Amino acid sequence: MSLNKKSVDDINVKGQRVLCRCDFNVPLKEGKITDENRLVAALPTIKKLIADGGKVILCSHLGKPKGEPKPELSLAPVAKRLSELLGQEVKFAADNEVVGANAKAAIEAMNDGEVVLLENTRYRAEETKNGEAFSKDLASICDVFVNDAFGTAHRAHCSNVGVAELVDTAVVGYLMQKEIDFLGNAVENPVRPFVAILGGAKVADKLNVISNLLEKCDTLIIGGGMAYTFLKAQGYEIGKSLVDDSKLDYCKEMMDKAEKLGKKLLLPVDSATITDFPNPIDAPVEVEVYDADKMPADREGCDIGPKTSEMFADAVKSAKTVVWNGPMGVFENPTLAKGTIAVAKSLAETDATTIIGGGDSAAAVNQLGFGDKMSHISTGGGASLEFLEGKELPGVAAANDK
Ligand code: AMP
Repeated sequence: MSLNKKSVDDINVKGQRVLCRCDFNVPLKEGKITDENRLVAALPTIKKLIADGGKVILCSHLGKPKGEPKPELSLAPVAKRLSELLGQEVKFAADNEVVGANAKAAIEAMNDGEVVLLENTRYRAEETKNGEAFSKDLASICDVFVNDAFGTAHRAHCSNVGVAELVDTAVVGYLMQKEIDFLGNAVENPVRPFVAILGGAKVADKLNVISNLLEKCDTLIIGGGMAYTFLKAQGYEIGKSLVDDSKLDYCKEMMDKAEKLGKKLLLPVDSATITDFPNPIDAPVEVEVYDADKMPADREGCDIGPKTSEMFADAVKSAKTVVWNGPMGVFENPTLAKGTIAVAKSLAETDATTIIGGGDSAAAVNQLGFGDKMSHISTGGGASLEFLEGKELPGVAAANDK
């Protein structure tokens, strides 16, 4: 996939109607935005389009209204907060058809440098099916299209792919550009040694990521629940730990592949174990640490042990590029978060380029206060995983090449 995309810096939208797809999928509680990170992250691109003197039409999805208007998922609160953050009015185009009579009238009335926000794109059933009618509606209200929503880049929807294919000028925004630069460079052109760290619950969710990263990286580290299927495939007792027996052969294949390619594949050498999974997840637990070859049959591995934490941290120390996706254990429980914290800390302390692949690892890094120590924290969990799989992301592919 070509990653050399035209961006907002390559165009000037003076006097033009520019439709900008943002990721305003923010958490709401009783109509109040509880985390505005995504709004703040969208500001640089919006400000550039305003500074050019464009007629800036913003759009986004919010939650899953499943193709019909749901007042609790209206983007109206976002328009209000965005107005405050931008210091200028963001006019909300309330419209159950998203691009119906009311939205069209609001756009018709725009002056250069003004901003309008459309209603939740998923009020329209065609949106998630990339249906033609809604794509055409969106294309009819703009001269230029900007995609700055990385979180949905792995999906082909009307508001990121359909519309882009119907306009002559479709470019990426600053946020999208940053994701492409960091994730793209890490995978396609990394400064070596390149260490990739994978964790999380299931091997099955990350089959292609494991396989692709083995080809690209120098060292692949596997922790979290998914490591136990690898350990079982090596013949170790794993007790009651998470396992996917249908993937034992796959794990053997990956270990063979690592050996053939001369890549290091690091697996846990010890585990923090418990007898019963905590309920609720953060309930107190009694932990015992066992080496990988001494795991009792009645225990469940729920975090990497201290020797493993040290070994993984050493690997990170020697790296020049590190990509991390997935926690090393049941990090929602403070007693079982030590391995995840140790890995986060090792990334915070290195001078290497450090990239966090969204989702739980991004949340963990931010919660621990290491957010500003990372080179890049991806805004899209699913999208960044597909990037790491080496897949073409439809939302990126649809933008014009340079
Ligand atoms: P994922 O969504 O695949 O990134 O997985 C994240 C989830 O994996 C978190 O909710 C963790 O609690 C869980 N997890 C990580 N390690 C383990 C483990 N050893 N046993 C059970 N669950 C785990």
